[in-house]
Amino acid sequence: MGKHTEWRKLAKKARRKRIRQKLAQERCNIEEEVVRYFILEQRLRENSPSYLLWAEEQRLLEEHQQVEEDRIAKEAHLRWVEVEQKAQEEWQILQVKLKLIREECARHQALIKAEWEREQRKLKEVEEKKLKEEEEKLKQQLLLKEQLEDFIERGGHIPKQLQKVLETNPNKPICPFFKKVGACRFGDACSRNHQRPCISRILLIPNFYSHISLDQSMESEYGSDSLEFESHERYSHFKEFFYDVLPELEKFGNIKQFEVCCNEEAHLRGNVYVEYSSSRVAMKAYRILQGRWYGGKQLNVEFCGLESWKNAICGEFHK
Ligand SMILES: [Zn+2]
Repeated sequence: MGKHTEWRKLAKKARRKRIRQKLAQERCNIEEEVVRYFILEQRLRENSPSYLLWAEEQRLLEEHQQVEEDRIAKEAHLRWVEVEQKAQEEWQILQVKLKLIREECARHQALIKAEWEREQRKLKEVEEKKLKEEEEKLKQQLLLKEQLEDFIERGGHIPKQLQKVLETNPNKPICPFFKKVGACRFGDACSRNHQRPCISRILLIPNFYSHISLDQSMESEYGSDSLEFESHERYSHFKEFFYDVLPELEKFGNIKQFEVCCNEEAHLRGNVYVEYSSSRVAMKAYRILQGRWYGGKQLNVEFCGLESWKNAICGEFHK
């Protein structure tokens, strides 16, 4: 590249720079002019009566707006205070109600507890009473046992507990059948009064003797064929029973009378009556025989208050 070309290039560059600088300067001058113009215009506008009026209106408007906003805010605050106060009051009422409910619950629970404690006390009392009664009963039983030993073995008095007569219907008339034979077809369910001594010289062993002829007679009432039994067969059967039982019964003491009821009625059938020489001997026999087994039967021995053998035997025994 020649020197001339180089120079031209630099000259062009310098010229472009000059032009750019001149343009920039002109632009700057224009902008400054515009600003000055705007400022001047602003001043003119601000001092004009219409602008001043407008500015005053603006100020009043803003003031009014502020007042209005304050009023709305105050009202909103008052509303909030009112709502808050109401809520507080409701909360207080609720608290009072809750307190009342809690108190009511506590009272109710106290009542339940008191009732439960009362029940428990009652149960305990009943239990204690029962225990005491059982202890007393046991004590009486032991005492009676001792007194009986004394009465039987050492010639003591009849125990006081036995010196009485048991009655099934104390306010009703005496049952004539029971009085006569010490038994009644209605048993203890009889509407009349049965008097039974707790101790006597006579023992009654109900349905002790049994013979097929007695049972057969009973069946015949219901229509089955009656079987005839020879009287001697019946007699020998009875004799066998008599000689079997009598020595056993005599072991306890002297027997004054021994009777077997051959009546077919269920409450009299095979009843055995034993009269001992004394109630002491009868009690001795009673203690041994009660509940004992004989010929497949368990004996249920009773003391009997028969007044007369004659009445008993003539009346019902040999029907
Ligand atoms: Zn009766």
